Amino acid sequence: MSLGALTSLAAVRDQRPPTKQDLGKSTAPEMVGQPASLTDILLSQVPTELVAPYTLVSAAIVGAVGQPSKAMPKPDQLATLRWLAFGILIVATAALVWEGKRRKAQGGPFPLLEVTGAVIAATGWAFALPGSPLIPYVHGALLTITPLIAAFAAIACSAFIASALQGPRGRIRVARTLEPPVREAAPVLAAAGNANMSQVISERAKGENMTIGKLHVQSDGRLNGPASLSYNVPFPCVNGSYGSGAMMGVVMHTMVGNLPGTISVFNKPSYQASAHFGIAQDGHIHQFGPIGKGWIAWAQEAGNQAWYSIEHADNANPNNPLTDAQMTASAQVVECLSAFAGFPLQISDDVNAKGYGVHNMGGAAWGGHTCPDLPPHHVRSAQRAEILRRAAAIRSPVTGQSGKYVADGTKSLADVAASSGRLLENIVWLTAVQHPGGFGPLEAKYFNAGDLHAVMPVGMVYWLPGY
Ligand SMILES: [Zn+2]
Repeated sequence: MSLGALTSLAAVRDQRPPTKQDLGKSTAPEMVGQPASLTDILLSQVPTELVAPYTLVSAAIVGAVGQPSKAMPKPDQLATLRWLAFGILIVATAALVWEGKRRKAQGGPFPLLEVTGAVIAATGWAFALPGSPLIPYVHGALLTITPLIAAFAAIACSAFIASALQGPRGRIRVARTLEPPVREAAPVLAAAGNANMSQVISERAKGENMTIGKLHVQSDGRLNGPASLSYNVPFPCVNGSYGSGAMMGVVMHTMVGNLPGTISVFNKPSYQASAHFGIAQDGHIHQFGPIGKGWIAWAQEAGNQAWYSIEHADNANPNNPLTDAQMTASAQVVECLSAFAGFPLQISDDVNAKGYGVHNMGGAAWGGHTCPDLPPHHVRSAQRAEILRRAAAIRSPVTGQSGKYVADGTKSLADVAASSGRLLENIVWLTAVQHPGGFGPLEAKYFNAGDLHAVMPVGMVYWLPGY
């Protein structure tokens, strides 16, 4: 390792924690973005470019020292030359780390930790060699022990500094609730025109990075596929009956509470209510009874027989919007039910029109509820449009395979979003989570500039989500 690696590390630490790639290690695709280990950084502190010539010079000095003889029992140890060579090594180390960092980061704060680490590593190296400037002053057993103690002390100090160098400059050891690129992406998205995006990004950053895709109905009536799913015990739950046939669609409900409480009451025979599905804020789906077996959930009275029902957690406030994860999970369930029962992926606000309806559209015959949101029904009811957009994308994959792309220098991220049918924030989010140790220099520069309509530079990596 080298001054080159250490100065790269010094430059990126102005922005974020260093990765293996920053230290010139492990450029295999799956390793890109991995945080740099303690060993990587420890090794990077040894200024090999200077240590190699210093070793040659100090060997020459040692060679020039005369052998003890009768005439000269204590030959001159050339202490002045030793100190001179040592001094040049230390000054050059400090100067080159500072200058290298200044070039790579175009200025910024003085890399105190990096300079200290390199100076200590160089000192340890110099003191461990036979050319050590300490040698003229020690005798007997100390001749052997002094270089070893010096080397050990230098390694101990370097390890301490290396652990501090794993974090970004100035925020060392700050607890990270969000991964750095996710934290970086949030304000970019907010600036790009979606004020809710910082929150969406935070919610997603907490959630599982799960592949989104189609669910299917198993032969036992349980939904299965790429989602977080649980099934009621007993299955189906006690509140329900049999006798449904052709289905009109699915109805959105809101819990006025959260999933655990809803599961609890739906399992009490006295409660006399249920639904086919409950979806928590984190996108977890709980299924109360089978699909395709004629099972009827008791969710919307006159609408029970021909409509499936999904309860969505709202933390006791129906005007809390569905979370991003809830919308995706709802889209997966709606897509699956639509494919299974043959109703279209469209909004229905009429009990006689097929599609994705809401509880309140049934009026008194459906129990006279405001569910899933309070008048003027502009929050959860209105989120069906985005849920259906996602459902359609899950059914017919949008243009272009999901996964990793490398920019060719002709398109902006906004162009990519428009032509692929993805939402811009979904692309930014996935690109952020795919860089767990921090964006690479191209990505960081692009996102920090904040203009998602600017053409991406050749080589910049971005990711298309599956929906
Ligand atoms: Zn309802």
